[in-house]
Order: sequence, then structure tokens, then C-alpha cells
Amino acid sequence: MNSSTPIYALTPFTMLDFKDKTACIIWFAGCNMRCAYCHNPDIVLGKGAKTEDDVLEFLERRQGLLDGVVISGGEATCYKGLPALLRKIKTLGYAIKLDSNGTYPDIIKQLFEEKLIDFLALDYKASPCAFQKVTGTGKRLWNKFQKTLDYVCVNQHGKFEVRTTIHSDLLNATDINAMISDLESKNYTGTYFIQNYRHKENETLGQMTDQIKELDISLIQPPRNFQIDYRNF
Ligand code: SF4
Repeated sequence: MNSSTPIYALTPFTMLDFKDKTACIIWFAGCNMRCAYCHNPDIVLGKGAKTEDDVLEFLERRQGLLDGVVISGGEATCYKGLPALLRKIKTLGYAIKLDSNGTYPDIIKQLFEEKLIDFLALDYKASPCAFQKVTGTGKRLWNKFQKTLDYVCVNQHGKFEVRTTIHSDLLNATDINAMISDLESKNYTGTYFIQNYRHKENETLGQMTDQIKELDISLIQPPRNFQIDYRNF
């Protein structure tokens, strides 16, 4: 990642990506995963074009007009300067939501403990069996994701949500049920968002085609302690 221009793009306004808030989205270039279904290959493989100062100047101009900032990517926690940048954004008075694959547990812990993020949307990519196939990465990142999930489940109730994207070539009902069991074992009490893959015109990282047969959600075991919100089924 280019440290002088770590940001790929800035979306100036959204009402959809940060609950109950008007926000902008900062898209960080680069990612440590290679998810086959990723719709953002340009962001994952491309270079950043904007500096921290570019986004801070924008945020200064929007003070009082926007409530929040969504930090997305790519994977923003790969950027070593993230905590320092979020400190500056916080001094401008913004709420901050982080979208993350959870593979930098120490950074996530630091961001929560310094109150630099208000909410975390955490991608639970796959069961251990399917993790390599979905993300193009292995056990080391699986273990780091688990460390993040353990931390937020114990310490950050109500301040995070878990979500999974399903392409039936990559994940089946057994995988989803294994993830639900894992969340139950960690006493997760939020909503689990399960999002069905939707094929778009642009290429995905893994050249995915559309799903031939979508997942049959009647095969998913209803969790005891939390709700599932199915999207796009
Ligand atoms: S979908 Fe995967 S590859 Fe794409 S940005 Fe998210 S974690 Fe990275």
C-alpha cells in the first residue's frame, strides 16, 4: 500500500451504509485477502490516489452536514497509519464505522479501546473448511479472524455486527451451520446478516459466474440466541 496516497476513492454521501447516519465512505486501497466473489478488484489490486489530507480537508468542509464516516476498502486495517488518521477524524466530531475482514485483531482492539470507532461491520468469510477457497488465504488469517471475533463477542456487545456473503459454489449449508454454531458458542447476540451473492457486470477477483443453484435456506439451523437477516434471497 502506498503510504502517501493510501485512499483509493471517497464517496461523498450515503444514507445506506451507516445506520441512522448521513455519512461519506473512505475506500482504502489494497487488501490482504483475495475473495473470489469480490466486486472491487480495482480497489484490492489498485493503488491509492488520495492522501489523508485530501479526506481531512473534505471532512472539514462537511462538518455539521454529515454525521459519520464509513471506513471501507479493500481492507483499511492493513494501513499502518489508520489509528492516527481516525484520531484526526474523531477530533472533527464524526462517528466512525469500520468495515473489516477482522484479520488485524490488535488494531481492532486498539481502535475500540481508544474509542476511535463506534461500530464494526465484521465479515465472517467462511467456515474453516471453506476459508481458503473463499478468501485465497489460509490458517494464519483464519486464526487472526477468530481472535477478533473472540474479542468483540466478549467486549463489544452491541457495537458490531457479523455478515457473510454466500455464493453457492463456495459455501454450502454445512458451512453456514458451522459458522452459526461458532457464533452461538461465542454468545453472539446481534443480528447475523447473510447476503446472497448477486452477479454484476464488472468482473470479480476470482472470475465468478452467477450461481447456478442458490443456497436453500431451509437447510440453515435457526440460531437460539440471535437472529438471521437474509438479504437478496
Ligand atoms: S471482499 Fe475480500 S478481497 Fe474484496 S475487499 Fe473484502 S476482504 Fe478484500
